Amino acid sequence: MTKPCILCVSITGSLPTKENNPAVPITVEEQIESTHEAFEAGATICHAHVRNDDQTPSSDPEKFARLKEGLMKHCPGMIIQFSTGGRSGAGQARGGMLALAPDMASLSVGSNNFPTRVYENPPQLVDWLAQEMRTHKVMPEVEAFDLSHILQAIKMHKDGKLYGQLYVQFVMGVKNAMPCDKEVFDYYVKTMKDRAPDAEWCAAGIGAAQLTMNEWAIAAGGHTRAGLEDNVRLDRNTLAPSNAALIKRAADLCGKYERPVATWQQAREILGLRMPA
Ligand SMILES: [Zn+2]
Repeated sequence: MTKPCILCVSITGSLPTKENNPAVPITVEEQIESTHEAFEAGATICHAHVRNDDQTPSSDPEKFARLKEGLMKHCPGMIIQFSTGGRSGAGQARGGMLALAPDMASLSVGSNNFPTRVYENPPQLVDWLAQEMRTHKVMPEVEAFDLSHILQAIKMHKDGKLYGQLYVQFVMGVKNAMPCDKEVFDYYVKTMKDRAPDAEWCAAGIGAAQLTMNEWAIAAGGHTRAGLEDNVRLDRNTLAPSNAALIKRAADLCGKYERPVATWQQAREILGLRMPA
């Protein structure tokens, strides 16, 4: 049997609003409902940011706590991953929710340009976030916006700075950062295989690149992410009706490449995560 494919749903993010797509979940209650639908469609990791009521990004640990509680109740077994990304706070506020001990948290290990700004990840902050994750036994998913981030992740893991198994996500298609490019993608995959053969990787694409990256990752034996954070459309003219619809599309692609969609038990086993109590 080929390796099951782990599907991660990126439910909300920091940027898309109801004006972009009314299906973007903003309140914690909406987030729980939207994640539950995606869980039923095959997603086993929930990558989450939280928002203020006016839709602006938040890093309020109290909101993260309510989200975690609701997800554990309504999506039992699902892997909970909180974002420590830089749009929702500055400096150490980005890691304020790590004490809640989610299964995973995203971790950026280098800087790059974003559509309208610099995505700043200074070494001291990266090390502090990684240390906080070790303290609270939170496995990072390293967000790689560039080849140098992959090499840095491998080095940090070898140096014992990252808790748990190494898990790297290739992100392509962010404006002003690495475009969705098949040769580069193939080199990313080769780099992981050659230099971190025991590690797992996944891939996410922004906008129209979401579907492309889903297919490349599934075909190449990796895991993949879909959701309204990264892409609010099914195609140029059609808004995605839900996070679940984007996950279903990825699950259908798994069928095309004869990859079973991982159950939450399989996903936890592949990533070496503890089973829920
Ligand atoms: Zn995110």
